[in-house]
Amino acid sequence: ATPNDCPADVETLGRSTWTLLHSIAATYPKDPSPTQQSDLRTFLGAFSRLYPCWVCADDFQTYMAKEQLAVGSRDEFGKWLCEAHNAVNTKLGKDTFDCNKWEERWRTGWKDGRCD
Ligand code: FAD
Repeated sequence: ATPNDCPADVETLGRSTWTLLHSIAATYPKDPSPTQQSDLRTFLGAFSRLYPCWVCADDFQTYMAKEQLAVGSRDEFGKWLCEAHNAVNTKLGKDTFDCNKWEERWRTGWKDGRCD
């Protein structure tokens, strides 16, 4: 980031937001309580309406209406979120990410010690 890139543009906002969302998945319990599950649902519902890139928010709401949000466990939510991120990657012409590796990227760290 340079001193001149405030306010955040769509890319900076997106990178920071994916970091937050995947980090929430990484710390979400393996066996969440009903309250934790409903908190996550409420958070993502409000997030999809408040995300301050309106085309992004519109498409994300459409995605959530089509692909049932899964909050039953860390693995379920982590995979759901990875697929949601891949849908955006595809829309933007970026490579998709191997969702079997989401925990290595966002929770445990790469097996070779890298962290990017
Ligand atoms: P990002 O896509 O920001 O990814 C950051 C890091 O996450 C990557 O470096 C990689 O290590 C990891 N990663 C990549 N894919 C996955 C995955 N599937 N699962 C787990 N980890 C992964 N931008 C637009 O221009 N138009 C849009 O409509 C749009 N919609 C968005 C909707 C949402 C909900 C969010 C959060 C962002 C959206 N963005 C959109 C921003 C866009 O997704 C990127 O964040 C931005 O283009 C910067 O991309 P990047 O290449 O730096 O990596």
